[in-house]
Amino acid sequence: MQDRFVYADNAATTPVSAEVLNKLLPFYMSEYGNASTLYRLGQSSHAALENARREVAKTLNAAPSEVFFTGCGTESDNMALRGFLHGPNAKGRRHLITTTIEHHAILHTAAALEKEGFRVTYVPVDHFGKVSVEEIDKAITPDTALVSVMFGNNEVGTLEPIAEIGALCRSRGVCFHTDAVQAFGHVPIDVKAMNIDLLSLSAHKLNAPKGVGAIYIRSGITLEPILTGGGQEKNRRSGTENIAGIVALGEAARIHRENMPAEMARLTAMQKRLTEGVLREIPQCWATGHPTDRLPGSCSFVFAGIEGESIVLDLDNNGICAATGSACSTASLDPSHVLLAIGQSREVAHGSLRLTLGTQNTEEDVDYILERLPRVVDRLRKMSPVWKE
Ligand code: PLP
Repeated sequence: MQDRFVYADNAATTPVSAEVLNKLLPFYMSEYGNASTLYRLGQSSHAALENARREVAKTLNAAPSEVFFTGCGTESDNMALRGFLHGPNAKGRRHLITTTIEHHAILHTAAALEKEGFRVTYVPVDHFGKVSVEEIDKAITPDTALVSVMFGNNEVGTLEPIAEIGALCRSRGVCFHTDAVQAFGHVPIDVKAMNIDLLSLSAHKLNAPKGVGAIYIRSGITLEPILTGGGQEKNRRSGTENIAGIVALGEAARIHRENMPAEMARLTAMQKRLTEGVLREIPQCWATGHPTDRLPGSCSFVFAGIEGESIVLDLDNNGICAATGSACSTASLDPSHVLLAIGQSREVAHGSLRLTLGTQNTEEDVDYILERLPRVVDRLRKMSPVWKE
């Protein structure tokens, strides 16, 4: 049944590339020094850490001194929200504005902050998953300390108007955070031109390992630390640095930055061909998210009359890895909050499928998905009690 293996779930995570692996391996075996130590072994780790910081900074057009390494994207998101609202730059203001389609790393953190007495406004998005800058403008009050809007959505791929929101927040004297976990290394990000104050990113979305992330903190902003201890990362994030993981993130950032124009064009063309093919071959199926302003390689659909979970399992039997809703919520039976927020009905939202292409995918992978997915959908619909032609 399985003629090919196609990994099409790059928004969930990505394989570590050979170049990145070769670069990180010495930091487990021979270059194992603690970066805080004074002898040469430790100083060599320190130099590698600073080199990775420069690569991440360069990819964001930030200064290296504005980049801090963390344990994951979730931690960076927590640092931004909790650290800013509890920190001195909030100046006692207790209002946070975010959107209804954020990742749970933001939404659950916002909910925890509400329990602490902070006020949170969840700005809705349109049918394409785009947030309106005017709505954010209207939501800002003198008590607003922070606006957090994701760069690109992990479920439907839509890119948000980050530069416009950044300009608005700067003019209104409000701090602006963006969760760029899906976007970093995949689309151009310029924290200066886009007036971004805080930005979260994660290594495992760009062919580097899981369990390492970073946060950009614009110079002049102080976050109340979440992890206190040995004072690493200039007291912003204590804990002995994961040098191998950080080296990998730096190398992955360099590679993705250098390959970005070509890779964006390649993945966008593949995304278009796959989306058009699916819509042509399968009746009662719709693409979700913005048709053009989207993360390269990100394809998302809803299918009437069948469950996303069944499609994913059947695709797996065909050697294809895909997702329904968000990878983090696949254990839940609730339809995805993102699909509900963009106005899909509960029934149709249950039939969602996300196919996210990455660096290792080829045109042959697209051909294979286009051959197998229509058959899978047809087979499942024939068994479905709710499917009506
Ligand atoms: N934010 C977004 C938009 C994501 O897609 C993810 C992971 O899927 C995260 C945050 C969490 O990142 P991490 O897995 O590194 O904790």
